[in-house]
Amino acid sequence: MIIGVGVIGAGTMGAGIAQICATTGVQVTMVDVSPAAIDRGQSAIAGSLERLVSKEKLTAAQKAEALARLRATTDYAELADAQLVIEAATESLELKLRILRQVDEIVAKDAIIATNTSSLSITQLAAVVSAPARFIGMHFFNPVPMMALVELIRGLQTSDETHARVLAFAGQIGKTPITAKNSPGFAVNRILCPMINEAVFALQEGLATAEDIDAGMKLGCNHPIGPLALADMIGLDTLLAIMQMFYEGFDDPKYRPAPLLKEMVAAGYLGRKSGRGFYAYA
Ligand code: NAD
Repeated sequence: MIIGVGVIGAGTMGAGIAQICATTGVQVTMVDVSPAAIDRGQSAIAGSLERLVSKEKLTAAQKAEALARLRATTDYAELADAQLVIEAATESLELKLRILRQVDEIVAKDAIIATNTSSLSITQLAAVVSAPARFIGMHFFNPVPMMALVELIRGLQTSDETHARVLAFAGQIGKTPITAKNSPGFAVNRILCPMINEAVFALQEGLATAEDIDAGMKLGCNHPIGPLALADMIGLDTLLAIMQMFYEGFDDPKYRPAPLLKEMVAAGYLGRKSGRGFYAYA
């Protein structure tokens, strides 16, 4: 059983991961380079816990206990006792390689190091730590407290023991794990993003209207949201970057981004965050 975890990054994902660990009885040390990010992360956690209390999903005492298990700092040295460190800092290869080398020097020799990267190679990241067998991908979904899934990604070097320990830990913090091999997009985005891209091709070809494409997938496939509305939520620039990564990573034309997707990104129509995507937002 893992009782002490380090989380690197106090942003959207880091704060969410820290929150679910703390609410399930794990001692958490959350590290960020930015004191302002730490403040924002701590407020986000406190706000989220308060909402859970008001919905009676958590008692006020459980909220207080969770907050008491959470320590936030800019000092990496405080990770020394962590049995598992989950890296959830900004998505940049150079940055993550630097952070992982830094963590590797601090943690105990039997600690597991995990990364929440969405797009970088687990095998490549594992290669910079001293025990790559104890390195694994733990891909959480946003918002972490609400989403049941954690995708575990085994790099080429990940040992069966590391996988088994992290699989058990996922259950311990109330998540349902699936396991995938290291490959662009892992399992979920590999299937989801080409499906959305295909919906953009269908729209571009005039096969059906955006409303009908989305209604078709909601009512015909029981998806909770249509692919084009989902694209607007993800951000069309993010979706384009993922499709480009697949196209180049697999070297396979079946992943080519839909020309309409490129055109919309070029126009600055990025979805909800820009006020306009496949739909208009006030
Ligand atoms: P974010 O921008 O909200 O947070 C990143 C945090 O990392 C910031 O607070 C930043 O100050 C901090 N940081 C930067 N350099 C650091 C360093 N050297 N040490 C410690 N902290 C540092 O980003 P996010 O959306 O939380 O994404 C974090 C990771 O999670 C990325 O790898 C991303 O690909 C992955 N991810 C994101 C989502 C999502 O929907 N946002 C989903 C799954 C996975």
